[in-house]
Amino acid sequence: MTKAQRKILVTTALPYANGSLHLGHVIEAVQADIWVRFQRLCGHACHFVSADDTHGTPVMLRAEQEGKTPEQLIAEVHRDHAADLKAFHIDFDNFHTTHAPENRDLTYDTYRRLQAAGKIKSKVIEQLYDPVRNMFLPDRFVKGQCPKCAAKDQYGDNCEVCGATYVPSELIAPYSVVSGAAPVMKPSEHYFFGLSECAPFLSDWVHGCNAVDGGPRLQAAAANKMKEWLGGGLKDWDISRDAPYFGFEIPGTVGKYFYVWLDAPIGYMASFKHFADAAGIDFDEYWAADSTTELYHFIGKDILYFHALFWPATLHAAGFRLPNAVFTHGFLTVNGQKMSKSRGTFITARQYLDHFDPEHLRYYFATKLNGNIEDIDLNYGDLASRVNSDLIGKYINIASRSFGFIGKYFDGQLGAPGAGDRQWLDKVRFGDSWDGADAPARADRVIADLYARREYSKAMREIFQLVDIANFFINQEKPWELAKLPQSRARLHEVCSTAVNMFRVLTIYLKPVLPALARNVEALLQIEALLWRDAQTDMAAGHGIGEFRRLMERVDLKEAQPPAVPAAA
Ligand SMILES: [Zn+2]
Repeated sequence: MTKAQRKILVTTALPYANGSLHLGHVIEAVQADIWVRFQRLCGHACHFVSADDTHGTPVMLRAEQEGKTPEQLIAEVHRDHAADLKAFHIDFDNFHTTHAPENRDLTYDTYRRLQAAGKIKSKVIEQLYDPVRNMFLPDRFVKGQCPKCAAKDQYGDNCEVCGATYVPSELIAPYSVVSGAAPVMKPSEHYFFGLSECAPFLSDWVHGCNAVDGGPRLQAAAANKMKEWLGGGLKDWDISRDAPYFGFEIPGTVGKYFYVWLDAPIGYMASFKHFADAAGIDFDEYWAADSTTELYHFIGKDILYFHALFWPATLHAAGFRLPNAVFTHGFLTVNGQKMSKSRGTFITARQYLDHFDPEHLRYYFATKLNGNIEDIDLNYGDLASRVNSDLIGKYINIASRSFGFIGKYFDGQLGAPGAGDRQWLDKVRFGDSWDGADAPARADRVIADLYARREYSKAMREIFQLVDIANFFINQEKPWELAKLPQSRARLHEVCSTAVNMFRVLTIYLKPVLPALARNVEALLQIEALLWRDAQTDMAAGHGIGEFRRLMERVDLKEAQPPAVPAAA
């Protein structure tokens, strides 16, 4: 990590505006939010934006079903999404919508740039048409058998079984999801982005490295997937759809709309623009081709294709900057099963929030997340035991066993750690093996590096080793015994002041994961918002702290019924 302040822009994938957020959205938002909060804690300018992805046929049809306009539907969904994300403490600078003037302008601008670069072609293609509903059937509204592996009930754009991508007309035995009718072929003029010509560029891009830290632009598994796609040859990308369609009409055409996947990632730029204009930040500094700022996208593995192929190719051809890296995560499973409504393993963000503390889930996800593209499993029993035994039983226990004595015997004023206590405080700060050197193995640096590489589960393990040292110190000094002996008051003051300082350091290390708890600790300690570098200093003797109150409730699975969880297998 450089000492200079970095300028960073981070995005999460845009949730689609036709339904509630579920815990699969939440895990991505939490993963990105921890990373963003860590960067900000280190003093970097880290902007964080997302938006609802509002366009396309599913929103149009859902609005129709509910007797609303698409604009009404997306406004309602946006309110719910924003409230859910806020409840999980996701600290976006802007959670925007793709149905916004900034996105229209940027989409048109991008399209004009692509035209000027000779990357837009038009041709008449035959497409599946629903003769009952009188509409062309977009990829997700025609199903059939995969042309490659013959798996049944696959969508028209890609196969969830073998991962093949294709056009809907290649499906075997297709049917319309809208009416069930067998579609007919009908010609229509479409606009294409010349993706096939971008293969050499993409091949270079994926093999290059992130200029900031020399790390890869894609994780190994994602880069391998890219190699596979590039090896199979790229086809030009159809970026237009026929009316009826909810989206942006293509300039210079009648009844042709931009495919939602063209304007959705441009929504990253639009959300940032909306924020940047209001905040007085220069949009071009972040998006011009020669930008020296950093750009990272957090996404799920299901949309890697769009973010590793279409998006960099579009940005490059249109003369914008490219992402430094795309951080892909796996799926969230529940009790080892894929989230699914029919299996009862589908949990909405709101269902969780109605029963449990959002920070419990943030912590639980942190104990499981890493930098790889692995699926993460949610198990409520496991969550309860990690929260109750780690967070409450170990970390918060440090405060429970020290703060009260400071209030009771010392008028809420901290003392100085004793001479022999200093080494224990330093062990909590810098690790058990720290020998006084300015070494990279110092715990604060190790933990910072793990956060930066999204190795949160390893970071939590490192931090809880330090928590164990603090508890060892307290168990050895036994403040509850010292409190019984009036002649040991001075020693009690030293021990409890040391423990409070230990707790403050550990709170800094946990702050990216537990922002609300950290705010409560800051209020309790009567201090300014803690920064990463504050872990190297102590609170002054004589500093007054507030009266101790409970910082977090235990998870009681008997009292709060976990939402939508099937009987354990
Ligand atoms: Zn297949």
